[in-house]
Amino acid sequence: MNILIEKARIWTNDSELGLIENGFVLLQDNLIAQVGRMEELPQNLAERAQIIAGHGQLLLPGFVCAHTHLYSALARGMALSGVAPQSFTDILAQIWWRLDKALDKESIYYSALIGGLELIRNGVTTVIDHHASPNAIRGSLAEIKKALVGELGLRSCLCYEISDRDGPERAMEGIAENIEFFDSTAQDELLSALIGLHASFSLSDRTFAQLRQALGGREVGFHIHLAEGPEDQEDSLTQYGKRVAARLNDLGILGPRTILAHGIHLDEQEQELIAQAGAILVHNPQSNMNNAVGIADIPALLRKGILVGLGNDGFGYEMLSDLRAMFLVHKLVQHDPQAMSLAQAHQVFFRNNYEIARRLFGVKLGSIRPGYRADLILVDYKAPTPLDEANFMGHLLFGLAGNLEVRTTIVNGRVLMREREMCGIDEQQAYREAREATRRLWGRIE
Ligand SMILES: [Zn+2]
Repeated sequence: MNILIEKARIWTNDSELGLIENGFVLLQDNLIAQVGRMEELPQNLAERAQIIAGHGQLLLPGFVCAHTHLYSALARGMALSGVAPQSFTDILAQIWWRLDKALDKESIYYSALIGGLELIRNGVTTVIDHHASPNAIRGSLAEIKKALVGELGLRSCLCYEISDRDGPERAMEGIAENIEFFDSTAQDELLSALIGLHASFSLSDRTFAQLRQALGGREVGFHIHLAEGPEDQEDSLTQYGKRVAARLNDLGILGPRTILAHGIHLDEQEQELIAQAGAILVHNPQSNMNNAVGIADIPALLRKGILVGLGNDGFGYEMLSDLRAMFLVHKLVQHDPQAMSLAQAHQVFFRNNYEIARRLFGVKLGSIRPGYRADLILVDYKAPTPLDEANFMGHLLFGLAGNLEVRTTIVNGRVLMREREMCGIDEQQAYREAREATRRLWGRIE
């Protein structure tokens, strides 16, 4: 069935089409087929389509979250004893490595389901997740897939974080989980897989060699944390006599399908290496602030031509809050109100994030024009001042961010939420079951 979205204010994210004040979009299967002004709407289109009335709402491309951890979805309000972190390593050891060890298949499933529901509610249509559950490794990605893709219909790129922190057996299990899942994703357009790695400081050369052997000739991308805290550099320099990006480069990890999360403590040479390799760097400003790990020099990385995207590292679900945090924090740390421009914010969120998704899923996303995948959101927004193509980013950052009212979310031509109601899933029941699963999860944390 075709879908016709009528009478919407369409921000196409396309320089030719611009902003269409009172427009329509026709979806055929999973594609955008026609876009135009209401007065150009062919008469017979409406008869053969399911109609979604736009009511003057803003129609935007769905958002991409380029790095997250949905396993943290059930951590909200969690109060653990003995948490008084002095460093980034303490934050991992005192909070996240205690939570992830307590995860079982049930809590993995509900973490993904609740995380996915919150993403849909906030207009995120593509999610790139990085998962860890050391006591339930095998089959964990299938649970996440079942929730995100099977139950909800989100475009999802998954991986399991391989790490030596729980011994060589768990590292081997992590390798097997990634490869088995990678091999299973070929036929599904909503699904993509990377090979997950925790971080250089928790991975020995031996584990990398075993991974390389297990991968055989597969062409893969990787998803790894890079220089999030100073510990990653200290470990690499002490153990391998080189800086961490150089180590990953020598190990063959850097490449155009590899996501490097954070990249905070990098020197000039490492930035050059990343640029030359064409690797992706994903910025997570709110998480960086919360963990007090510092902030990557994003304006400099952009000037070097690195494909910088935006994620949230599991810190909430509303990506515009991260976009606004990015827009603000670089001005603050550089004491320069010009440090980040609206054009750079647009580049990261509305160009680079979709280029990252294109590399991982092999489909065109992020513009509302014929031939692109139908990943769209309708947003309630009353503009108190004139809104046009030129000032859209101002409205987004100072009006919509932190105040986002997504009413309808469509992924791959399928309506996942309509007028705030989730389609095909009992949301109340999902939250009720998640709370019960969370009680059991919290009870297992040591
Ligand atoms: Zn992360």
